[in-house]
Amino acid sequence: MNTILKKTDYLQRFLFEDLGVRGEWLGLQLSWQESKQKQNLCSSVQEKLGEALVAAVLMSATIKFEGSLILQAQGNGSLKTLVAQATHDRTIRVLARDDGTVKSGSLSEMMGTGRLVITIESEKGEPYQGIVSLEGKDLSEVITTYFLQSEQLQTRVWLFANENFAAGLLLQELPGQESSKTDWERIIVLANTVTKQEMLTLECEEMLHRLFNAEKVRLFEQEPVSFKCTCSKKKIENTLIALGREELESILQEKNEINVDCEFCAEHYSFDRVDIESLFSGSVFESNSSRHH
Ligand SMILES: [Zn+2]
Repeated sequence: MNTILKKTDYLQRFLFEDLGVRGEWLGLQLSWQESKQKQNLCSSVQEKLGEALVAAVLMSATIKFEGSLILQAQGNGSLKTLVAQATHDRTIRVLARDDGTVKSGSLSEMMGTGRLVITIESEKGEPYQGIVSLEGKDLSEVITTYFLQSEQLQTRVWLFANENFAAGLLLQELPGQESSKTDWERIIVLANTVTKQEMLTLECEEMLHRLFNAEKVRLFEQEPVSFKCTCSKKKIENTLIALGREELESILQEKNEINVDCEFCAEHYSFDRVDIESLFSGSVFESNSSRHH
């Protein structure tokens, strides 16, 4: 499955025109591999992280917004954290943390009990946050619960990933346009026949044809997906300023410089005493922090 020449790294939206059901297909290869390449993750963690990434992209494409959707799963098992971020312009980044003893298994076997937090950070307006517990046999069940609770919309997702590919399918009732129960159930029964092998190897159109060849499906334009970390020197500087001058001083006295590595892309940021001085020179934060101490 490693060297299949198919078009990947795009999101495809589609619509069952007569049924009031919309869908999204996602197939990632290069963007998925680039997203995790600086993180040393075992294959079973990669599988779960890939599924989380697919879920985040599919979810971000169900809403109209400018900003990013962050899916964060936290548990008390050996796999501690999964983070997947997807922006409105279809850039992605991921992060996983484990205690080094992860064994392959179901989501709850690997993560224990915990919760899934969905944060939508919009460039305009307040951030939105929705939380569901990590219950269910896999992440797709957790996502189904999330949509039912947060949007009261029937939604189903199918998520698949291995070290090379990550792919998924989302089906959702159109808001305000209830599909008939039998139509929805028929579509779900058909979609449930999809296999991991098919999802990770076929292109969208072929996939849809296999699953829904008797249905009228309208395809929208393909949207390219790419890896892009949103870290920047400016953002790190803001974090440092928020830590306060005293805290930074004490680090500088030990090490002479402050080093910060981005956990997503491993980009290295280094600040010496002069850099730190210039962060605070003329900054309003200086007077704030001195007032506090
Ligand atoms: Zn980064």
